[in-house]
Amino acid sequence: MLKKLTGGREKLVDYQIQRERMVREQLIARGIKDERVLEAMGKVPRHLFVEEVFAPRAYADHPLPIGEKQTISQPYIVAYMLEALEVSKKSRVLEIGTGSGYQTALLAQLCQKVYSIERIRPLAQKAQRLLEQLGYHNFQIMVGDGSRGWPEKAPFDGIIISASVPSLPLILLEQLDEGGRMVAPVGGEKSQTLRVVYKKSGQLIEEERLHCSFVKLIGEYGWSE
Ligand code: SAH
Repeated sequence: MLKKLTGGREKLVDYQIQRERMVREQLIARGIKDERVLEAMGKVPRHLFVEEVFAPRAYADHPLPIGEKQTISQPYIVAYMLEALEVSKKSRVLEIGTGSGYQTALLAQLCQKVYSIERIRPLAQKAQRLLEQLGYHNFQIMVGDGSRGWPEKAPFDGIIISASVPSLPLILLEQLDEGGRMVAPVGGEKSQTLRVVYKKSGQLIEEERLHCSFVKLIGEYGWSE
């Protein structure tokens, strides 16, 4: 199956080399230290998640189209967010904005279970198929408005929003467990800052990190269409 998906052994090796270079030059060189994140980024075949014509550029240092006018973030931003989420093998995580399923695959490598919500059905279906083909089983994708979270599955050890929000939806913070962390790009339509929020002794602590630029989270507690 993998062979069919990737177009043969030569390309497979080539993509693996590109992936290793990406980990060295874009992640380690810029300060990503979490060994588990680096290992997962070195394993997950990013070229299968982008639109096919962009596969040869999948490991380059920029975002890429995934269809339906949506984009997959640059590898460094994905790694940064995963590191900031501080998940363990035991974590149950909520991802909002499945998109291509690339980050879902990374989370599936890092956590016990990933719950992921995507608003555009064709993207959710494509991600579901690809993740299954790649042998992931510890994930569940739902089509719907992720800005409301997934209360039936709460509380989560981590919540990661991969689309921008004008402000942090309270309803999501309520679904975060004590000790849990949420990572989200918060700000305007064009640019945002990545925020890391966690609960400590019942109190919410919020840190502002990098500047970034994400597509919009469209929904009840996000942007209107
Ligand atoms: N992390 C993804 C990329 C996400 S792009 C990847 O690895 O490919 C952001 C995604 O959020 C888009 O697919 C978009 O359709 C989705 N989205 C936007 N608003 C949403 C909402 N309210 N609920 C769920 N998904 C949403």
